[in-house]
Amino acid sequence: ITSLAGKSVAVFGLGGSGLATAEALVAGGAKVVAWDDNADSVAKAAAAGIPTADLRPIDFAGFEALVLSPGVPLTHPKPHWTVELAQAAGIAIIGDIELFCRERRAIAPGSPFIAITGTNGKSTTTALIAHMFRTDGWDVQLGGNIGTAILSLAPPARDRIHIVECSSFQIDLAPTIDPTVGVLLNLTEDHLDRHDTMERYAAIKARLVRGAGTAVVGVDDEWCSAIASDLDKRGTPVERISVHRPVANGFFADKGRIFEAEDDAIREIADLAGIGALRGVHNAQNAAAAIAAARAIGMSDLSILEGLNSFPGLAHRMEGVTRIGKVLFVNDSKATNADAAEKALASFERIYWIAGGKAKTGGITSLEPYFPRIAKAYLIGAAAEEFAATLAGKVETVMAGTMDVAVAAAAQDAARDGAAEPVVLLSPACASYDQYSNFEKRGDHFRSLVQALEGAKPLVE
Ligand code: ADP
Repeated sequence: ITSLAGKSVAVFGLGGSGLATAEALVAGGAKVVAWDDNADSVAKAAAAGIPTADLRPIDFAGFEALVLSPGVPLTHPKPHWTVELAQAAGIAIIGDIELFCRERRAIAPGSPFIAITGTNGKSTTTALIAHMFRTDGWDVQLGGNIGTAILSLAPPARDRIHIVECSSFQIDLAPTIDPTVGVLLNLTEDHLDRHDTMERYAAIKARLVRGAGTAVVGVDDEWCSAIASDLDKRGTPVERISVHRPVANGFFADKGRIFEAEDDAIREIADLAGIGALRGVHNAQNAAAAIAAARAIGMSDLSILEGLNSFPGLAHRMEGVTRIGKVLFVNDSKATNADAAEKALASFERIYWIAGGKAKTGGITSLEPYFPRIAKAYLIGAAAEEFAATLAGKVETVMAGTMDVAVAAAAQDAARDGAAEPVVLLSPACASYDQYSNFEKRGDHFRSLVQALEGAKPLVE
């Protein structure tokens, strides 16, 4: 970051992205003071050569900005003390994505930059877009919420593309975010129970597409649909995405086929049937949005197809692990609640379902419409009793307790099934922390057990 050379900048929050921010600012000649509530993080930053000091006694008046980590609460339940100090001094409170946007305008205005947000599907869509551009031969810089901190990526330049997943916290700290293409997939309540909070959440997400050269907006929920209409009024070009109905301008999906519509003229772009990593209606939304973004940067039909067909998918999200005989083994460990598990259950016809863990409120009662697809359920973890009660009389269940028992039993039962494609599916509808430290560890365990089964080979779809 060279655009703040000589300026005083405070950095608060020294986790992965905060540390990368402080390092980038120091390297670019800014006068940095960094701090964190956690003493270990401060020590680590100091060891990396970053000037650290408790910000509380500091006079913020001469500072250009306070750069916050996205995890630091701006408002709820009350502002963090650093936020109050910066607000009292009247200085800008921004995040690393805002710094990137300022830098881009200063050193490489107009360089390609795609930003992606939404309640669900962000990582899948971001990874798919990055994969398409890599396949098409671009220098792709992939980061943001999906992994690498944006300021650890190579700087913006004409001949490289930045593809960045943004959480609402990150957008909230990026007042001038101005991607070449902004993608807003969907907006649902997602644990928000107060209407005013949802309105604020929607307004924050809307900022990402409002500042975009081209906006790609999923219009299947009322919030995004209203945002798209507002963009029309503002004169921002909008590509609409739907998996429910045709759109006049944009991309829509019908039974896995994706169509491009331009002033009502319709053309088929791709068929997702057979692309294992993009199974399910929710992935049609992700794929359509990715296609729209690639098209907005000028990618050809052929390159789009190549990218789609070779997309390996993300680990733990409906990840195909192996096929043994006719049986497909799928790792959907990321499904930590019933809503996410529903997407997986809706994607297969004959399911040997491994579920359980630390249950969320409501359990799996909402999944009842999918029970007829479940040949047998193998229950693990703390939720086993509760889930067994919900399934009683409707689905045959096995109280497996642990993953190894569940995998062995499900593999054996599915192998005897006469259906065209029986699926052993880990989609737990639960958090993992009764038995694992996170959903990745749980999915890794499932994958290694499955790969150790007789006849298992890496999946080539
Ligand atoms: P995010 O990064 O927004 O959390 P992911 O791409 O990691 O989203 O997907 C997480 C889970 O969310 C998936 O396993 C799937 O169950 C669900 N999901 C993915 N895409 C969508 C979508 N477009 N709409 C609704 N749910 C989705």
